[in-house]
Amino acid sequence: MEQSRLGLPLKINEIFYSIQGESRFVGWPTVFVRTSGCHLRCSYCDTTYAYYEGGKKTIGEILSEIEKHQTPYVCLTGGEPLLQKNLNPLVKELCDRNYQVSIETSGDLSCLELDPRAFKVVDIKTPDSGAPGAFCADNLDLPPETTEFKFVICSPEDFTWAEDFCRENQLFERFNVLYSPSFNKIESRWLAESILAKKSSARLQMQLHKYIWSPEARGV
Ligand code: SF4
Repeated sequence: MEQSRLGLPLKINEIFYSIQGESRFVGWPTVFVRTSGCHLRCSYCDTTYAYYEGGKKTIGEILSEIEKHQTPYVCLTGGEPLLQKNLNPLVKELCDRNYQVSIETSGDLSCLELDPRAFKVVDIKTPDSGAPGAFCADNLDLPPETTEFKFVICSPEDFTWAEDFCRENQLFERFNVLYSPSFNKIESRWLAESILAKKSSARLQMQLHKYIWSPEARGV
């Protein structure tokens, strides 16, 4: 059984080792496995190169690359990882090997069938995201211990919409909710002040990796 799982392929855009910039795992050295393909086209997408580029790798080959980096943290991201039919076998294999697995998803596809040991970081696309309405309501039934919801805020209207969505769906009571300022679209200070003024229960998330490796941060 294990052997057949190791031979299953996924379409992979890249595998790389970096600092996790988001979620409860922020700051940890992490191996990122980026899958190819996404059915959405968000206005702020910074991984457009992952829409089509990539090649087939088996789960065994992916594991070999992950093992080289000697960290327990693995993030499956995209593109949209849930478009890969063999995503869950990969997740199961990683969890069986005691990796701390997080999955970053657009939120437009149900995560309920994914291995419950994996942590899910689920986007909720705002009106100004370029993909409004792309949310699968099944995901509201995910277990709060292993789920975070993330809004990328592009405008004041998005902030108001996100607050209303969280309150209507009792997200603040049940989940960790993250608000990220859309990079170069909205001031992080404005978002921080809005969270405070509104007495929101969302947590500000700064996408650490962009501040470390953006051209501005590198002085380029
Ligand atoms: S869901 Fe993610 S990968 Fe897909 S278009 Fe939006 S930001 Fe890009």
